[in-house]
Amino acid sequence: MIVTYIRGWYYNNMQLTAHDLKQMNKATLARLSPEQLLSFSERMLEDLQEAMDRLNQNSNNSSRPPGSMPPWASDDTQNPADTADQDHADDDKDPVIKHSDDDDYLSPEDTSLDNVPEAPDAIGIQAPEVSPTPPIKPELVKRVAGKQEGAKGYGRTQALAITATVYHARTHCASCNACLGDYEAQAAWTAFCTIDIAEHIPGNAGITLTNTKHIFFETKCDCGHHNREEPYAAMPDVAWPKTNLSEWRLVGPRLAAMIVLLSKRHRNSRKLIREFLLHFLRLELSVGTIDQSIRESGRSVAPLEEELIRDLEEAALAYVDETSWKEAGVLRWLWVFRTLTVVFFMVGKRDRSIFCKLLLNGRFNGIVMSDGWVVYREYANRLRCWAHLIRKARGLSESYHTKAADVGLQMLALFTTFQNAIYAVREQPEQPIGTLTKKLENDIEALKALCIANRDSTHKKLRAFARELLLDWDTILRQIHDPSLPLTNNEAERILRHWVIDRRLSNGTRTAEGTRSFTILASVIETCRIRGAPAWDYLTQVILAARKGLQLPALPIMQA
Ligand SMILES: [Zn+2]
Repeated sequence: MIVTYIRGWYYNNMQLTAHDLKQMNKATLARLSPEQLLSFSERMLEDLQEAMDRLNQNSNNSSRPPGSMPPWASDDTQNPADTADQDHADDDKDPVIKHSDDDDYLSPEDTSLDNVPEAPDAIGIQAPEVSPTPPIKPELVKRVAGKQEGAKGYGRTQALAITATVYHARTHCASCNACLGDYEAQAAWTAFCTIDIAEHIPGNAGITLTNTKHIFFETKCDCGHHNREEPYAAMPDVAWPKTNLSEWRLVGPRLAAMIVLLSKRHRNSRKLIREFLLHFLRLELSVGTIDQSIRESGRSVAPLEEELIRDLEEAALAYVDETSWKEAGVLRWLWVFRTLTVVFFMVGKRDRSIFCKLLLNGRFNGIVMSDGWVVYREYANRLRCWAHLIRKARGLSESYHTKAADVGLQMLALFTTFQNAIYAVREQPEQPIGTLTKKLENDIEALKALCIANRDSTHKKLRAFARELLLDWDTILRQIHDPSLPLTNNEAERILRHWVIDRRLSNGTRTAEGTRSFTILASVIETCRIRGAPAWDYLTQVILAARKGLQLPALPIMQA
């Protein structure tokens, strides 16, 4: 058995917890010696500076677009349907999401500490004079361990052997800074178990599960201060009203990341993931625990939105596409923005707002590759997807209307000529921009003449296509002018296809929070994929850091 001893103040940025502060007043300060007071003031000053920084971060002047106030959501008029279904768990049709995984945090063999979440004196230590309410989720402390009334019973039926124990104890008093001795001199006040997947050993195949017991200690200092080490719990976030972020979890970071990938990459429902874990890993997790792990992972990676948007705005070229998406039964659009290094998803209203906020904001100066939707035409520096145009020309050429078929065939032949010429030029040494336009001058004129001759055709589709080409003429011919530019929007369409299948299986998302979790997780997973980095490892690191309140690791760099 591995025993690790974690020293105090390791996780929390704050040195004084709510538990500490509640015990302190003018009288406790008066009892400290001048040296102790100085040392205490130093810690207080550091905490105050940290607190001020956090206040600034949360305010509207912050440079962070994501977090509590996503810019694209801020001036949206709330659709009444958005809030109607908030009590339901997100994108899952499983009806049995009734309890959270807080039911599951101790395995049954932990009899010695079975009642600890109830109150500190349950394990034979003196209760402090102050109320035993740590700043962690209140229900974690108040709830009696064991099956909760009304909860489905399968959360804690499984007894797994403990593979490691980690002791969490403070080394120094928060008030007088005196040495407290190690954990053996202190009393355990709470404990929980975390099931996780062991790190991969190169050369080995397969998966090994671990079950780590975390024990937290407390002790009363000679100065009278009651010191207690507590699991990290993030402050509530208005953007995630139903998702708590805490170190106190049954599902460890690597297992949570695997569950996310089983859901988002492999498109399994919560129920199927439960079945998979049970059949292949002999691990019993409730659907509620699985759902919570996915949403909490979404909240963990949410701060990366800032980095993704920044990378998107710096890109030279963005492929953009959109498809329908359902959120709580309301029709929405799922957008994808794909650059050389970033894939970014966003769900919003079926209008121009998301495109405007992400790319028409003055910060993006690259080229937009898209289809011919009128919204994209607001952006001048763009490319048209030729696959769409060629499909339209082919459609006309197959028409039973003789005139339309004849013109369509000619247009299709011209586009094919252009396309072949572009491919041929790409094989050759680079030529000055505009060389091919000059070379294809006659064919370009022929296409224009066809468009002008048919702009008032009685055939509706031919008329529309001729007008579309004339209206967007220079943009459509840009790839002839500069053959190095891409011809199609396949890069975006291919990525969106995966989520179109996902939408058919899941029927969309059920709440704004579920949508947010889905889009940010999908963005991070796809970005890892195009950067050639293993998404599982990266998600694990991010979830691990977020659950301890640490700085998140930066997105993986692009592999050559
Ligand atoms: Zn002390």
